[in-house]
Amino acid sequence: SSREAVTVIGLGSMGSTMARTFVAAGHPTTVWNRTPGKADGLGAVPAATAAEAVAASKVVVISQVDYGAMFESLADADLQGRVLFNLSSDSPERLRKATEWVAERGGTLVTGGIMVPPPGIGQPGSYVFYAGSEEAVAAHQPTLEVLGRVDHVGTDPGQAMLYYQAMLNIFWATLISYFYSATLVGNAEQLRPYVATMLTDLAEDGPMGFLRILTTALDTGTHEGGDNNLHMQAVGAEHVVQAFTEAGLDVTVPGAVAALFARADAAGYGADGLSALVDLIRKPN
Ligand code: NDP
Repeated sequence: SSREAVTVIGLGSMGSTMARTFVAAGHPTTVWNRTPGKADGLGAVPAATAAEAVAASKVVVISQVDYGAMFESLADADLQGRVLFNLSSDSPERLRKATEWVAERGGTLVTGGIMVPPPGIGQPGSYVFYAGSEEAVAAHQPTLEVLGRVDHVGTDPGQAMLYYQAMLNIFWATLISYFYSATLVGNAEQLRPYVATMLTDLAEDGPMGFLRILTTALDTGTHEGGDNNLHMQAVGAEHVVQAFTEAGLDVTVPGAVAALFARADAAGYGADGLSALVDLIRKPN
């Protein structure tokens, strides 16, 4: 095979799918998982120990619960000349420490945040935020592309998780707000088309294209209030909370939004636009 050898460490939902995807793409693939038996049926070569798995390939892709699992798994492994692509979730600071940990053992760590669930791995639309050595990413780009598009976002190892967590925050906040609103209405299917239109309109250019409009505001620091200022929105957000309260529902998320608006209003941002909230985000209460 002209495809380079790959080792996959961690065979949970993500890692096992990655291993299967590398095998399907013709990569000689070696795998290891803490709990034995998970290599069955993947079509990859199971290694008896993590150290043996690392010895089998220069490229090591890791997908475990967090970086603590890597510290445990690879404590005795020789990482000399190895390039580790760890696609596990953890905090940016942990990724920086992990980069030093791997370097002390002679290896190179590239951190990554993979932006799809298991069925999306290697499928159109799949992509991974990578951070750390740009050379290492470039050198193994064809291999990495088997998992999805390769987006190198910075040499600071923390950047991959920063982008990953930035996107997760939007994913969760958007969908959870939908759960709240669908529960308030009592019929999700009734509400869904309105939500779908709003999400599309927000992302496109037009009078409702607030993603681009407010991006300009964020980047220039000018937050025009106009006839839809923060004070008015703070009052409106309080009415949203009241609607949930009257319906006997939880108000954690709408209440948090209303509290942020109220804090902005009290701090003197009432006449400004929605994007003035970034000043409060930069100054935690
Ligand atoms: P799973 O829970 O399915 O798998 C976790 C893996 O971590 C298992 O292989 C487990 O081994 C291993 N593990 C846990 N603790 C240790 C340890 N102390 N030492 C060695 N191995 C350990 O998780 P996923 O596959 O879903 O997720 C893997 C990573 O990918 C996570 O960081 C997750 O946040 C991230 N991710 C997940 C997505 C998803 O949709 N699932 C999407 C994007 C990223 P064992 O079998 O022995 O328990």
